[in-house]
Amino acid sequence: MKVLVTGGAGFIGSALVRHLVLEQGAEVVVVDKMTYAANRANITPAEATGNCRLIVEDICNQPAMTEIIAREAPQQILHLAAESHVDRSISGPRDFVETNVIGTYSLLEAARAHWSGLSGEARENFRFLHVSTDEVYGSLGADGLFEETTPYDPSSPYSASKAASDHLAKAWFRTYGLPVVVSNCSNNYGPYHFPEKLIPLVILNALEGKELPVYGDGSNVRDWLYVEDHARALSLIATKGRLGETYNVGGRNERTNLQVVERICDELDAVMPAERPRRELIKFVTDRPGHDHRYAIDATKLEDELGWRAQENFETGLAKTVRWYLDNADWWTPLRKSVYSGERLGLAEPQ
Ligand code: NAD
Repeated sequence: MKVLVTGGAGFIGSALVRHLVLEQGAEVVVVDKMTYAANRANITPAEATGNCRLIVEDICNQPAMTEIIAREAPQQILHLAAESHVDRSISGPRDFVETNVIGTYSLLEAARAHWSGLSGEARENFRFLHVSTDEVYGSLGADGLFEETTPYDPSSPYSASKAASDHLAKAWFRTYGLPVVVSNCSNNYGPYHFPEKLIPLVILNALEGKELPVYGDGSNVRDWLYVEDHARALSLIATKGRLGETYNVGGRNERTNLQVVERICDELDAVMPAERPRRELIKFVTDRPGHDHRYAIDATKLEDELGWRAQENFETGLAKTVRWYLDNADWWTPLRKSVYSGERLGLAEPQ
């Protein structure tokens, strides 16, 4: 099977590319603009097989995307390219509207041009998976879970731009019949996570004995999913999901931000003891504007219909993640030094 993955050199996209190429034997074409968040090293293991190729392109370039899709003729398009960092969306929302909204529009049109010309089995089997976030649903109180039917209520420029793109994807199914499926996932973590995001930032700051800033009182709740569990879910949804449907993806691993940071400190103390407990590095800082209090996903539909289960719980996934960062300083040292300084944004949020 031939699959085109947009944003395949980013965090989740590359986990998906590695899963498709190394575990499923698929042929993958990655289309990525190679922004600051991309890293060719993320797909090196897949490229080494000869079954993965990178095309550097902006998804907003509709003629180029039309030409690439016509030439490559993939059976599935898995769309993950996005601007993904909430704090960056607050300080500079324009890129988010361009890539997440206009880029998704351009890609849908390019996919439609290709799909319209197909016939028979090729047309029947073609799929467009639009990958999105649970942040489109807004914030939860102490109880309840996001279901596929939860009304959209985004808070940040990031989540608003993703919400807009979800609506476009659904409209291209309803209006034009393009075989679209949408997935909305909770916060991911795991190997190859760019070091401005909460978990890698805290691991690396803690390793270097730097402060571990936590927004507000640290009581905001996120529902964490190990990135490789997400990659398996995406591949399954693209292949077996019902057309025009949404599938929520989540690991039933709710933690407050403070619990996450404390768990990282304890894990590091256990595998690499420091002079003083790393929890002493925690520092509470002024909360982010419009900060959603709680996200939590009900993944029952995905579990019941498609038989997916998360394989990692938060403790096992976090232990693997900490180990990966300890073993892969070659990957993160240049990013930490030249691309991003942990102090610049003060604190990173999960998405
Ligand atoms: P990421 O920022 O790590 O990667 C995004 C990738 O998209 C990068 O490789 C970047 O170069 C590429 N890209 C950006 N703009 C582009 C453009 N105009 N054209 C082509 N490529 C472009 O993001 P991620 O965390 O891997 O997220 C991937 C997708 O999953 C996003 O759509 C995001 O909204 C969604 N999502 C993320 C999370 C999470 O916890 N990270 C959770 C749920 C959903």
